[in-house]
Amino acid sequence: PDVADKIAAGEVAERPSSVVKELVENAVDAGADKITVEIKNGGIKLIRVADNGKGIPSEQVPTAFLRHATSKLNTADDLYNISTMGFRGEALSSICAVAKVEIITKTAEAETGVHYIVDHGICGEADEIACADGTIMVVEDLFANVPARMKFLKKDSTEAGYISDLMTRLALSKPNISFDYICDGKPVFKTSGDGDLTNVILKVYGLKFAKAVMPVDYFENGVKISGVIGKPELSFGNRTKQTIFVNGRYIKNHVIAKVAEEAFRNAVMIGKFPFFVLNIEVPPEMVDVNVHPAKTEVKFANEKQLYDIVYHAVKNAMYGIKV
Ligand code: ADP
Ligand code: MG
Repeated sequence: PDVADKIAAGEVAERPSSVVKELVENAVDAGADKITVEIKNGGIKLIRVADNGKGIPSEQVPTAFLRHATSKLNTADDLYNISTMGFRGEALSSICAVAKVEIITKTAEAETGVHYIVDHGICGEADEIACADGTIMVVEDLFANVPARMKFLKKDSTEAGYISDLMTRLALSKPNISFDYICDGKPVFKTSGDGDLTNVILKVYGLKFAKAVMPVDYFENGVKISGVIGKPELSFGNRTKQTIFVNGRYIKNHVIAKVAEEAFRNAVMIGKFPFFVLNIEVPPEMVDVNVHPAKTEVKFANEKQLYDIVYHAVKNAMYGIKV
């Protein structure tokens, strides 16, 4: 692989969970409503993502693995537009520079599918294969040719933990997609894809959570806030059970979390951290995208107004439990 690919790989494919993220986002962009993710040894030995999306036309398969090959006409400015998750055309080229990547893909129009392998940057020949519509990506021996990267990884169980957190967030962000997640041969969760967030919560967190959530559903000044907040009995000593999405993308923002907590605490007089999943939909121009796309920090134009709206949204939801 050339140097530029290896450098790009360092940004896109930082660790196994970032590879899973890119592959699943591609499956989402392909319109899949069923996505199966299987990992082994924290994703280092194996990451397998199978989707029922639109597939890649056979003649485009080798080019999809080249750097800056993208079929998505987005620019960085569009990142927080809801259309597609990917836009840089860097993921596949980066991943195949540092792993053995095998793809099996078929479009609905094609009679047969295509099978293609890139082994740590070395391309093979594309050949025909009988398969279902959609795409299967198999990533093996990640970072086997990048010892420095390998050394920086944590132990398998920790890397698997990062992937599980990611899969949880992906499932929560897309209740319309059925996610089947398997770790070291064991099924972890399978969501139904019926569009109901509470059903996703049931599958990923369990019944105790699903039974103790209240809907958040609020609109003010072009900003829509939906999701759920946990009842007081479902509160915690830290923020690990809080998830915020902006226009479908997972973000970390302690101010938003604090504002939501404040609305919760003012209503129930409990000092603990609430469980929540908040989907914030803002006009794309409200989001400052001058932050690396792989990063989860986001800046907003007019922050103060957004915080107020979040406060009102949670406060409103809390009326459900006021006595
Ligand atoms: P990007 O997502 O930024 O376009 P990627 O390197 O992730 O770049 O993918 C390159 C291209 O390969 C995509 O634009 C898409 O056309 C195709 N592709 C990748 N994964 C899939 C998939 N699971 N289903 C259909 N097409 C895919
Ligand atoms: Mg992509």
